[in-house]
Amino acid sequence: MHTKLLPLIALALFVVGCTTAGVIPPQDVSLDPEPRSMYLSEMATELGWTYESGPEPRQYTLKSPKGDRVTFKGGSDLVFVNTTRWKAERDAVENRNGNDLYLPESVFNWVCKRFGQHHLMRGPIRQSTVDLTPLTPDTPVSPVPVDGALKGLVVCVDAGHGGKDPGGMANGVVEKDICLNVSLRLRDLLVASGASVIMTRTTDVYPELEDRCSMANRGNADLFISVHANIAPNSDEVAGIEAFFKGGKSDSERFARVLVEAMVGASGAPSRGAKVDPRGLRVLEKTNMTAVLVELGFMSNPEEARKLGTRSYQDLMAKALHDGVVKYWTRNRASVSK
Ligand SMILES: [Zn+2]
Repeated sequence: MHTKLLPLIALALFVVGCTTAGVIPPQDVSLDPEPRSMYLSEMATELGWTYESGPEPRQYTLKSPKGDRVTFKGGSDLVFVNTTRWKAERDAVENRNGNDLYLPESVFNWVCKRFGQHHLMRGPIRQSTVDLTPLTPDTPVSPVPVDGALKGLVVCVDAGHGGKDPGGMANGVVEKDICLNVSLRLRDLLVASGASVIMTRTTDVYPELEDRCSMANRGNADLFISVHANIAPNSDEVAGIEAFFKGGKSDSERFARVLVEAMVGASGAPSRGAKVDPRGLRVLEKTNMTAVLVELGFMSNPEEARKLGTRSYQDLMAKALHDGVVKYWTRNRASVSK
């Protein structure tokens, strides 16, 4: 390494360190694996506080009678408490009328704890002894470049497997990790295009399949994408991309075709097509909206496994899925809009 670079690297690390937000601890998943959510209006009612939109677009501020302010933003996981900022376990999602936010319940519990309202805390975390991360100095957040192509669209991104369930494992790659990396990247790209995104998980946890579906249904998602990678049990030669949809749902079939086409076009991997789900996959059966399960490639194929394990290929697949969503939404906006 060139020694002249060292001070620069040290400076970069320092800047990164300074801009890291405190982290609101997620719910204790060993007690309750379901990442529950609640509306900002419910939080305000339970706390006896008020909330209003602003100060920035898509922001909402919860105000205590004493003048404390907690600010959230649709499509963002940042939480501002007076002059400090924190990171929630997943993004806040705006409702359709633009007057309320859907937030992780852990944020509510954290606000209760922070403002001495322990008796209002919900669920098993009430007994938790987790200490909060110390406050960090406030730092300006660079705005997300929103181009608005997906404004008004709500997408639920479901990173397959997680936690106790690794999914497939082959050739040194683990499905749950590939799914999460691609899903987080996809979330950022969708948000940058103006969509609201519901994540079924943003960390290495396992939400039950029913809960993944109810998050999408309760959040009124327009589109649901479950992200997976494949294993062929008896062959290391099988390769390629495929997507599944529930038979009889023509919107899901169209969406599956567009996503496969986008992924194949971006990666050059073989296409195995958009297929009717033969297995009755829960996330396709129990979701009310246009829903597709994508298989990014075969981990059992050494060449595809090597690619799937790289950040650059994961980003490429996320970008392809994003572009597929833009294409589908642009063509089908009229029929998707509720
Ligand atoms: Zn899977």
